[in-house]
Amino acid sequence: MNDVLEQLKRGVRRFQTEVYPEQAEVFAQAASERQRPHTLFITCADSRIDPNAITSTGPGEVFVTRNIGNMVPPYGEMLGGVSAVIEFAVSALKVQHIVVCGHTQCGAMQALLAPGSTDAMPTVKSWLTNAHAALSVTESLRKRDGAQALDILTQQNVLLQLQHLKTHPSVAGAMALGELTLSGWVYNIGTGEILIAEDGEAAFAPV
Ligand SMILES: [Zn+2]
Repeated sequence: MNDVLEQLKRGVRRFQTEVYPEQAEVFAQAASERQRPHTLFITCADSRIDPNAITSTGPGEVFVTRNIGNMVPPYGEMLGGVSAVIEFAVSALKVQHIVVCGHTQCGAMQALLAPGSTDAMPTVKSWLTNAHAALSVTESLRKRDGAQALDILTQQNVLLQLQHLKTHPSVAGAMALGELTLSGWVYNIGTGEILIAEDGEAAFAPV
């Protein structure tokens, strides 16, 4: 007996009998045409984040990719899932906006601040190097301002990943034509508040 699988199956049945019928038209419409999402949403794999819920979006609107720490390796350094998703979303789906969304209480950010904590997870440790420049900025700002390291790092990581995004040829090309914009978000899981740094600005402001 697999209790977790049974729990998931109960959820599927509830979706099929209660949720789907209520939105049957929306799903039928989404299935009848090619997807045309307006946004690529890059966020953390953290199970407490629901991209559709926090943006009040439905099927077909947001193309989502998630990984530990909502990171975007600079182009050419780690060709893989994230780079392929970005290229496909921009070049084939023609998304008009890319969001990099970090969040409070992020385990990846906490691990960056406690380097020994990932010693037994070499793959995670290696992945986190994508945020090392943000860690360096955080250490400098903390000495200067005395603010909470975790809060600074969460914001600085989002800003760094926006910079990395611009190293991807598909992104740089679409931005040059004015067809694509970027923003960096920090979602507060405990309060629902979302801070946004619009493209070109390093300051986060509440929505
Ligand atoms: Zn996280």
